[in-house]
Amino acid sequence: MKELLSIIVPCFNEQEALPIFYDAIILNLKKLPLDYELIFVDDGSKDNTSSIMKELSLKDKNVKYIIFSRNFGKEAAMYAGLEKSKGDYVVVMDVDLQDPPEQLEIMYKSIIEENVDCVATRRVTRKGEPKIRSWFARKFYKLINKWSQTEVVDGARDFRMMKRKMVDSILSMKEYNRFSKGIFSWVGFKTKWLEYENIKRCAGETKWNFKKLFIYAIEGFIAFTLQPLYLIIKLGCALFVLDLIATFTLVILEICGIHCLLSWVILLLVMVLLTSVILIALGIMALYQAKIYNEVKNRPIYIATETNIK
Ligand code: UDP
Ligand code: MG
Repeated sequence: MKELLSIIVPCFNEQEALPIFYDAIILNLKKLPLDYELIFVDDGSKDNTSSIMKELSLKDKNVKYIIFSRNFGKEAAMYAGLEKSKGDYVVVMDVDLQDPPEQLEIMYKSIIEENVDCVATRRVTRKGEPKIRSWFARKFYKLINKWSQTEVVDGARDFRMMKRKMVDSILSMKEYNRFSKGIFSWVGFKTKWLEYENIKRCAGETKWNFKKLFIYAIEGFIAFTLQPLYLIIKLGCALFVLDLIATFTLVILEICGIHCLLSWVILLLVMVLLTSVILIALGIMALYQAKIYNEVKNRPIYIATETNIK
């Protein structure tokens, strides 16, 4: 019996792209020595996306669909697809052909021949994307990689082929606020990276605007780093030290006969001192909260790939 490949495709208002995607993917699936299931997830589309999915499923018994009651976001759509997938290998890809289906053959070959657990993709250029968006994206990756212990690869796409064991590990992370780029990296496993240039959408429009991307970036920071909280504590400490130095200097000047300890100066010094104490206290409290948040997320403590213990 052939092994099974599951392909998960989140779709949000994609009535134009969906039929084009289906034709392209079938063409490429024929080249693989695998059975397949195509899992389309309709993330609360307002157009005809869901009826197209249903039509495709009548035509092709390997097409499955999940229709959301509203728009939950791509992360939720990916999770639903992963949860329902049965494949020995699982692929996540966009419906707009920005994730080229020709790569599937290369991915499968790498998984088999190079014995990796995952073949992931990254864009090496951001051609065709608004300049300001690219600039923010680059800054985001730089900062999150500086701050977080989990590597978030610049330009990494969600498009990847994974072995079952990696999918099961991802599913064991049940956190509600999901940031897949971090989760994929957090679970570990041997990953090979394929690189390619940015490709334009085949039809329809991008579903991400600047606001959505900004919120997504914040999600990434909150899920994978505590650095902003440490920054608050550091700022508090810096203010505290500066205030002490200023007070000390002014007292010395006063002793030397230079009258500078005016009442408003004293008031200012006290205010800055109190602010610094409040900042430090806030930072420490937030750290405790973050630890609670981490516990609530209930992430697995470790993920093992192999053992001979029965
Ligand atoms: N998508 C989704 N839910 C959303 C936004 C997007 O399922 O709320 C899907 C969308 O249909 C597409 C994929 O996620 O298949 C990537 O979206 P898009 O192409 O708009 O993002 P971009 O490539 O511009 O980053
Ligand atoms: Mg796209």
